[in-house]
Amino acid sequence: MNKIKYIKHTSKNCNNIEKCLFCEISKGNISSNKVFDNNNIYAFLDINPQAPIHIIIVPKQHIDSLSIVSEEHIEILGMIQIYISKIAKQFDELKNGFRVVNNCGIYGGQTIYHLHYHLLGGKQLNWPPG
Ligand code: AMP
Ligand code: ZN
Repeated sequence: MNKIKYIKHTSKNCNNIEKCLFCEISKGNISSNKVFDNNNIYAFLDINPQAPIHIIIVPKQHIDSLSIVSEEHIEILGMIQIYISKIAKQFDELKNGFRVVNNCGIYGGQTIYHLHYHLLGGKQLNWPPG
């Protein structure tokens, strides 16, 4: 039997052997520390937190990255922003503010090619980022 590999998924390399990590997490096939879940959006704690609160928010629909979105994605992109705001309200540590980050492409530092937003906070964050 073929061993399943988890790789940087793009629509070009999608097949039965190579699976997208964030698709699998949002379907519940790989465990995560869930923060929020509905029909369209899944949020979970980052495995390697960069701040006291570090949550990853993904659309359940696979989208490679922000660089390929278009008008067809308006509804899901709008919902993500609204639910990030709702999720942030659930954490007392974020009451003084928070940061939302999308790393896009190689120079943006994207490592997982399933669109996702980082919700960071719980301390004073520095600016500019590196
Ligand atoms: P990016 O570098 O913007 O593509 O962000 C990917 C993020 O996913 C990183 O912050 C990783 O720490 C996080 N990550 C990778 N694998 C997992 C996992 N299995 N569960 C939770 N977070 C993960
Ligand atoms: Zn995916």
